[in-house]
Amino acid sequence: MLYLIRYPDIGSEPHLKKSKLKTDILAVIDSKISGSTHWTDPGRIFLETDDPGAEQLLAGIHGITSFSPAKKCGLNDLEKVFLNLAIGILKNKKRFGVKVKRTGEHTLSSQEFAARLGSLVLKKLPGLKVDFKDPDELIFVEIRGQDCFIFNRIVAGIDRSAIPHPPSFPPQTEPRFIADDMLGKLARRLRMMGFDTLYPKTSADSLLVRISSQEGRIILTRDNGLAKIRGVNAMLIHSIRLGEQLKELMGSRKIKLAADRMFSRCAVCNTALIKVEKEKIKDRVPPLIYKIFDNFTYCPVCDKVYWKGTHYERMLSELEEIM
Ligand SMILES: [Zn+2]
Repeated sequence: MLYLIRYPDIGSEPHLKKSKLKTDILAVIDSKISGSTHWTDPGRIFLETDDPGAEQLLAGIHGITSFSPAKKCGLNDLEKVFLNLAIGILKNKKRFGVKVKRTGEHTLSSQEFAARLGSLVLKKLPGLKVDFKDPDELIFVEIRGQDCFIFNRIVAGIDRSAIPHPPSFPPQTEPRFIADDMLGKLARRLRMMGFDTLYPKTSADSLLVRISSQEGRIILTRDNGLAKIRGVNAMLIHSIRLGEQLKELMGSRKIKLAADRMFSRCAVCNTALIKVEKEKIKDRVPPLIYKIFDNFTYCPVCDKVYWKGTHYERMLSELEEIM
């Protein structure tokens, strides 16, 4: 199995010496994971191993923010290999998205690669729909020069939470949530608004209740039965519309909007975003965006760069309307 391993490369922690961190991680990998070979790229370690316990070991190695079991292929074979994998991953699924990240010289942009791969899937599995807001599966492709890595799972490493929160991040006095599988859009929106919100994609009452009591989270659910269980900290959401749902939530729990908290969490994985110096993400955002914006944040788990663009403005005005 091949693993694509991420470690902080563009974070702003001065005490973390990048190269030392990479050397330390590699030393632990060599000592703990048998029969492995590895190579590196900035921010990435690629590990090839037959060790069946590798995933568990990687999840416990300090310095690793996340990793993904991946399939490697050459750029020439990308379409064929991707389609084969996608058919397996998307069996019995309805909504999907393809995300491509690219470094090196190519004739297509990341978006063009993603569109091409997505349309291949749609041709083969016409019942599927592209949906980035609430997908059943996201399939990721990292293209590095002539090498491609395809994966659909991002496993958080042990140091995901060790990454310091940005200084403006409020203390844990804000309500924290866990949303059931009917409330994916609401969960994402709450994260964008800065609220710590888990979305385990399950309606298993036992799991929701356990995490809620262990972590002091309010369960958000559309299941009347769950909301009524005695002693469970749950709130029944009545509406199926996002705007109405937010209204319900603001009304009953008095969630306040705070501009400084907006976009402080990753919408995809709930990790607190890190402020990142503009120069460090120059190659990671479109040139026009780089020109217009000065403040960028970064999710170390998804390796995604955020800025307060038009979607941010739209969200603010939407929320103002609700208020
Ligand atoms: Zn993330």
